Amino acid sequence: MMNQTILLNPGPVTLTERVREAMQREDLCHREPEFAKLALDIKARLAQVYPEAAKEYEAILLTGSGTCAVEAMLSTLVPQDGKALVVTNGVYGERMAAMVTAHGKPLEVVTSQWHEPMNLIEVENRLIEDTSITHVIAVHHETTTGRLNDVAKLGQICKRKNVALLLDCVSSFGAEAIEFDAWNLDGCAATANKCLHGAPGISFVLVKRSLFDSRPSAAASVYLDLYPYYKEQQQGYSPFTQAVHVSYAFHEALIELEEMGGQIARYRHYHSLSQKIKQGLKQLGIETFLDEQDCSVVLTSFNLPSNTTYEQLHLFLKKKGFVIYAGQGGLKSSIFRIANMGNIQSDDIERLLNCFHQLSQRS
Ligand SMILES: *Cc1c(COP(=O)(O)O)cnc(C)c1O
Repeated sequence: MMNQTILLNPGPVTLTERVREAMQREDLCHREPEFAKLALDIKARLAQVYPEAAKEYEAILLTGSGTCAVEAMLSTLVPQDGKALVVTNGVYGERMAAMVTAHGKPLEVVTSQWHEPMNLIEVENRLIEDTSITHVIAVHHETTTGRLNDVAKLGQICKRKNVALLLDCVSSFGAEAIEFDAWNLDGCAATANKCLHGAPGISFVLVKRSLFDSRPSAAASVYLDLYPYYKEQQQGYSPFTQAVHVSYAFHEALIELEEMGGQIARYRHYHSLSQKIKQGLKQLGIETFLDEQDCSVVLTSFNLPSNTTYEQLHLFLKKKGFVIYAGQGGLKSSIFRIANMGNIQSDDIERLLNCFHQLSQRS
């Protein structure tokens, strides 16, 4: 069935017909070699999205949403006798601090307001003062505001201080640049259904393989312990049932990404769409919430115009076939967000801008 609605929320995304149809393939048992072959192929393609990662990092597949991958990463890779420094400037950084706390691991938090960048001066000071910190944990693209955090700078600090970096790349993987060695990355977590254009239900962690060489499990969890997945997925199998049909779709989406030219091509496509959105809305007097140079190419937050509430704007656009996204927490009634992930083309954005234009004429 053709999709009538364009999703402009930050995942799940509007699928291509090709990806949606892949979910109709034959039913498979996840313990049969046909599924193992599919899983191995997905793993290999994922490690190749950033060619630098292919040699030293292993993609570990999980059945669950992005949060599942993030929690599995923190659960498995931060040792009980380690110490985490979580850097936050939005919902997703704060969620990771809550996870480390829930798993009973020692942590410190360097918090910034949601409209501010990460406080890197404070991060560096804490690392100088407290040499027991083993892991820095941060969000690459903070979807709360659409800020692309300055992880290049954060990563340099980690590299210099020889502290491992763990990243939530859930809303950046496949589109924004990620540097594995320069950022001292031990792992990054992401999902099928954001910049990679798969269906919801599968997430994954890219882990530095050498970490598993000698490692006893650090996870205080059975389902979220990456180590058994790592071992069994060497042959394509998993300890628990995997989302078979969603795997078909993910596989197809990864082939589509390769055919379009990979991460760099997707970055360019998103850049062009997000520029178009920003320029079009600016002409109607709708300004970005962050400075433009701080915005990702994936999602942009805008100040809500004074002549409408979020609910009115959302409903108006939904009737026209577009689903936008509200702000969270304290930003709930002051911003709205537009993501341009998924099967979205330039003419979809033209239609969207046309709707905004109609709305401005009415009031
Ligand atoms: C979407 C998102 C998540 C995870 O969300 P799920 O609803 O669990 O898929 C985590 N971090 C960031 C930065 C996100 O954008």
